[in-house]
Amino acid sequence: MKKEKVIIIGSGPAGLTAALYAARAFLDPLVISGSELGGQVSITTEVENYPGFPEGTTGPELVEFMRKQAEKFGARTEIDEVVEVDLTKGSPFQITTHSEEYRTEAVIIASGASPKRLGVPGEEEFIGRGVSFCATCDGFFFRGKEIVVVGGGDSALEEGLFLTKFASAVRVIHRREELRAGETLKVRALKNEKMSFIWNTVVEGISGNGAVESVQVRNLKTGGADTLSTNGVFVYIGHYPNSALFEGQLAMDEHKYLITDKRMMTSVEGVFAAGEIQDPVYRQVATSVGQGCAAAMMAERWLAQRHGG
Ligand code: NAP
Repeated sequence: MKKEKVIIIGSGPAGLTAALYAARAFLDPLVISGSELGGQVSITTEVENYPGFPEGTTGPELVEFMRKQAEKFGARTEIDEVVEVDLTKGSPFQITTHSEEYRTEAVIIASGASPKRLGVPGEEEFIGRGVSFCATCDGFFFRGKEIVVVGGGDSALEEGLFLTKFASAVRVIHRREELRAGETLKVRALKNEKMSFIWNTVVEGISGNGAVESVQVRNLKTGGADTLSTNGVFVYIGHYPNSALFEGQLAMDEHKYLITDKRMMTSVEGVFAAGEIQDPVYRQVATSVGQGCAAAMMAERWLAQRHGG
């Protein structure tokens, strides 16, 4: 059993910022990366709205800078996944990963959120063979091909626009006739010659022979069903919080986001949370960074009080 002062679960912008601040406060934090080093932003193509980068940056570059900066001040990163936690008996808490058991005085949970799935026949079967949740990872394989993007939010349009660099045509299938995305992306997407929109429509199935060849769709206004030929289906329909590990141990809202107070503390003393795991509203790199900073500062204060500081 390894002993730690602060364990940070998750290595996205919230976790890495918490690591930077905790390291600079001499808390010697350990970051347990989770399945995706760098979190969701590491699979985001372009980041144009994170301050300090007038020309924009890429998700992988941004998280690499954040990791390096945290490690420069002594934060450690373990590429591992937490499989079990026991937060019920108070500090020190027990955290088990695939390869290690830890006891830690404080915990900062920054395990983020994951892409929602459509839950239709063919989706699971064709992951890696035409179905993707990551344009950055898979866009290259669709050079000269026709693809569809499902969703009407910022992610669908941003990643759809990125995919026009590779694909011959990108059709966005949205369940309403109004986009949820912000104005800038909306204008760019509607102007892009390679992009077109299929409104009021949902995907009901994905088919192919070894790889995706078509999607079955239904128009929600007319009720009419249709089959569209396509080589790829990129799904961008939002996210769910990665909070299953904490079920029954920490207070959550009805959508399973962790509930935190103004100090970023969860319902258990000494357990803090930052980023999308506790934020269903803003969900930006900039807000996650701020929350990670606040969580580390509060964890430091809480530990100091505990030790009579
Ligand atoms: P989102 O804003 O929640 O949008 C999800 C989209 O998917 C919505 O258009 C929604 O339709 C649709 N949808 C949800 N469930 C569906 C289903 N079962 N079948 C079909 N369509 C479904 O998610 P997001 O685009 O991933 O964005 C998440 C957050 O990150 C947002 O706050 C966004 O602003 C932010 N973000 C910002 C940027 C940027 O600023 N550059 C880039 C990416 C993400 P309805 O519209 O009908 O609900």
